[in-house]
Amino acid sequence: MSRVVHRNGARMPVRARAEAATPARSAVAYNAGSLSVAREHGIPHVEVADGADCGWTSHPDPDKAARPVRTVEDAAQWPLAHARCARTFGLRPDGEQASV
Ligand SMILES: [Zn+2]
Repeated sequence: MSRVVHRNGARMPVRARAEAATPARSAVAYNAGSLSVAREHGIPHVEVADGADCGWTSHPDPDKAARPVRTVEDAAQWPLAHARCARTFGLRPDGEQASV
């Protein structure tokens, strides 16, 4: 009787630690994708969804991100303000400006 000994005991499941860093990066890519769709369709404005306390350029920025409508160029500069930012852009084909 022959035995094949697998050395599974020495193998630890490889956990991709890098995964912890990916959500923000993919959110940037996702937002960049939204903006390129906006550009393709000539849509000048996007509606910003973000945390209620989120500033536009950083968390303490008094210019709050949740102000609904930004230009696509503005949005491209600040696809996210901080780590784990939940910012997303919705397209506004109607081009409606936010009342400031
Ligand atoms: Zn945010």
